[in-house]
Amino acid sequence: MINSRNIDDLHPTVAALCHKWLAGCADAGIGVLITSTYRDADYQNSLYAEGRTSKGKIVTNARAGQSYHNYRMAFDFVPMVKGKPAWADMELIEKCGVIGEHVGLEWAGRWQGKFRESLHLQYSGGLSLADLQSGRTLPSIDPPTE
Ligand SMILES: [Zn+2]
Repeated sequence: MINSRNIDDLHPTVAALCHKWLAGCADAGIGVLITSTYRDADYQNSLYAEGRTSKGKIVTNARAGQSYHNYRMAFDFVPMVKGKPAWADMELIEKCGVIGEHVGLEWAGRWQGKFRESLHLQYSGGLSLADLQSGRTLPSIDPPTE
């Protein structure tokens, strides 16, 4: 099972956006930690099992192939305050999300529904999960600039 935290495991286009986002956070004086980038199918299925067939709370509605993490197009983060992860500092998390939007990422804090993941950023390049499941991939082009 792979649950990578390495930016280099993201699609190159998404990795470039991630680096831009990190620079934007640094400019704003916000320290951040990347907690997840690429997840393989086995790891995604083990997450899906949490709170269902294994113990704990339900943490995702996505099975293998149903998350942009599985396609190297998403990453999770947490802002750091005085060396500690600020999991619940919504004001700071929103600042990070907005910085992500400014560099061209999609911030999941905008999503409606039960699994609004405010610590998740992704770049779909216009590809839906159905597109990705059918084998389409993100072209390695320069990410859009503002
Ligand atoms: Zn995520």
